[in-house]
Amino acid sequence: MSSDTQTMAQAGPYEAVIGMEVHAELLTESKMFCACSAEFGGEPNTRCCPVCLGLPGSLPVANRKAVEFVVKAASALNCRINRATFFHRKNYFYPDLPKAYQVTQYGDTPIGIHGWIQIETPEGGVKRIGIRRVHLEEDTGKLMHVSPLTSEVDYNRSGVPLMEIVTEHDPRAGFDQINTAAEAREYLVQLRAILTCLGVCDGKMEEGSLRCEPNISVRPAGSATYGTRTELKNLNSFRAVFRGIEYEVRRQIETITSGGKVVHETRRWDDENGVTATMRGKELEQEYRYFPEPDLLPFTFEESYIEAVRGGLPAAFKAATSWTGDVAMSGECFRNAVSRYARTTATQASTAHAVFMESALWLENLLVNASGMLPATMPAVTMAKYGTYFAWDMLRKNISTKTQASTTDTFLRFMMRANSAATT
Ligand SMILES: [Zn+2]
Repeated sequence: MSSDTQTMAQAGPYEAVIGMEVHAELLTESKMFCACSAEFGGEPNTRCCPVCLGLPGSLPVANRKAVEFVVKAASALNCRINRATFFHRKNYFYPDLPKAYQVTQYGDTPIGIHGWIQIETPEGGVKRIGIRRVHLEEDTGKLMHVSPLTSEVDYNRSGVPLMEIVTEHDPRAGFDQINTAAEAREYLVQLRAILTCLGVCDGKMEEGSLRCEPNISVRPAGSATYGTRTELKNLNSFRAVFRGIEYEVRRQIETITSGGKVVHETRRWDDENGVTATMRGKELEQEYRYFPEPDLLPFTFEESYIEAVRGGLPAAFKAATSWTGDVAMSGECFRNAVSRYARTTATQASTAHAVFMESALWLENLLVNASGMLPATMPAVTMAKYGTYFAWDMLRKNISTKTQASTTDTFLRFMMRANSAATT
């Protein structure tokens, strides 16, 4: 047994950190890049054309409705909409992917970023779960394993527009984490309600139009570092999401406490036997060789377009999605997060300093984005300044004189930039 597993095994109670990746098939009539029907089912391989089969010489044309649906959903999820965005190719070979690459959105410019939804916890509390990104991509075909040696493939689903929604688990972003199977299920219930209410997805988990892939890790409660995570596939009901996560959390804690190590891998949920099993090792991101899709032009959204889409949202979503409301809310979440952080880490001067530096940077980005987009951002600027001041004030009481000096310096520089951003 290595020394670090011994330390882990001796530690007290464990907590789980759960990230949720949800794929939602969009309710468009045609596919993402061609005119084929996007409807569920049909005689296998009857809803295909050279584009969605990836035949040589075929060229994609983006589905306007699918883009609108993602802007709509991202707005309802309190996201900021990137004004300029584009597609990438994710390269890999699999029989359900005839092109050997999937058109998706990678990196910092998905359509929606930095959103949140609120969930109620089983204990009666409220958590605001951050959403890191909402992006648009295409679905793959479907493999049917008819016998141990034979598989069949149906390309009817190949190229159906797919929206991916990924949660933010980093507490520095100012949101709450999903820590239990019940919270994960509640998140999915809420998300499904929002998407079906908007009419962008039918939410039929049994038909695969809403699919969930949670990633799960455990760590000693209160630890600042994350444990190794595993990803669960094949969860097609709320019940499976709950049971799969519960099982996986228990399995990981047992693995660690008995001196073993959790392996970074993708695991399959076996609903019948109520267990997870190894599926494959986890690929590294760089192995996909992402690059900008050369057959599709980047696109930019006019303010009027975003406003029109937001204007069409059901009333319940409108109040929460105004830009200033969004940023002010982020400021408040941020303040709470800093306060939590300061309480747990301020005893370590270097950690406190690092947290402050990152906070300042985060707020600065927020401010730069805000000042470049809409003129009426004064409340946001005030909130950001207040948040930074709060962090600085809390931390300076707990750090050495030398660290204090450099932290104060960063703080003052940030304030100067904040002031000039607010007045131009
Ligand atoms: Zn097609």
